Amino acid sequence: MKQSQPLLTIVVPCYNEEEVLEETAKQLTSVLDDLTAEELISSESKILFVDDGSRDRTWSLIAMESTKNDYVTGLKLARNVGHQKALLAGLEKAKDKSDCVVSIDADLQDDVSVIRDFILHYHEGCEIVYGVRRCRKTDTFFKRTTALGFYRFMNKLGINLVYNHADYRLMSKRALEELSRFKEANLFLRGIIPMIGFKWTEVIYDRKERFAGETKYPLKKMLSFAFDGITSFSVAPIRFITSLGFFLFFLSVIAGAYALIQKTLGYTNAGWTSLIISIWLIGGLQLMGIGMIGEYIGKIFMEVKGRPKYAIDIDLYSERLGHFQHDETDMLMEERFI
Ligand code: UDP
Ligand code: MG
Repeated sequence: MKQSQPLLTIVVPCYNEEEVLEETAKQLTSVLDDLTAEELISSESKILFVDDGSRDRTWSLIAMESTKNDYVTGLKLARNVGHQKALLAGLEKAKDKSDCVVSIDADLQDDVSVIRDFILHYHEGCEIVYGVRRCRKTDTFFKRTTALGFYRFMNKLGINLVYNHADYRLMSKRALEELSRFKEANLFLRGIIPMIGFKWTEVIYDRKERFAGETKYPLKKMLSFAFDGITSFSVAPIRFITSLGFFLFFLSVIAGAYALIQKTLGYTNAGWTSLIISIWLIGGLQLMGIGMIGEYIGKIFMEVKGRPKYAIDIDLYSERLGHFQHDETDMLMEERFI
């Protein structure tokens, strides 16, 4: 049975977000105020900002905000671990204390007013609610086309992704518990969460421009994100190389037979060009194959090591919700930041 007033935690990963943080806190606070007033969520609900090793004032803003605003709590990671892992840190932290968790980016590109719809679906028994963008008008042409290509390609490989869904979603405690059973280090949440199952639904919204600041996902990070997504979910690339190998082998048998026949018939060939070309072609293909195999071995290597994905430096969340009294937390704050 779902609780009538679930404790909601909104997890917000932040990396160098000093320009948007206050506005984000303000807008999320008003969402929580409204939901509490409607008695849709518990008044103990929280906003959990995860500072992913920012190099600007992000953390001091979070800390300051948490002294003024009862909803606001923070989690400071010891260094930058990237969006997916920072998000996971927040989800794992929030899991024990919350009945449901919404994850959202700090930049206010996602429409915060649909959190209410998420909660309504939660009350109807959905364990996972995906926020889906209606269109990507506000993204650049480049980002739009590469993203579309990526979704198509992933689908071709048989990886189940919710189309046009980023990491704006609600997950219930049960779904989070299932998620925590995925022990892999190469995290691609968008691929893993649909694998969990349970009752789910989508909520469509319009994606806006970034409120302030610039994207923290430059091309390099985007490519590595896509590459990770593909190689941690599918062996299709390596299968492709294997079949290419078989195909080339088949071709070389035919070509070899042809060359032998030509030779016995007495036709001579300079042959140098074709030799050189094939040496390079096959050499290149082999290297490519070895590279792909190496990619998977690298992944096995990382998984086997089972390294912790992040280290938490300061945890205001447990302090606020745990054994500390409110005044004590405030005192702690003062000692630490002021
Ligand atoms: N982010 C993070 N760690 C990183 C990069 C990004 O926590 O290393 C956060 C960032 O602060 C934001 C979210 O991930 O809240 C999404 O990043 P961004 O909005 O820059 O990506 P885009 O919307 O441009 O794809
Ligand atoms: Mg963004």
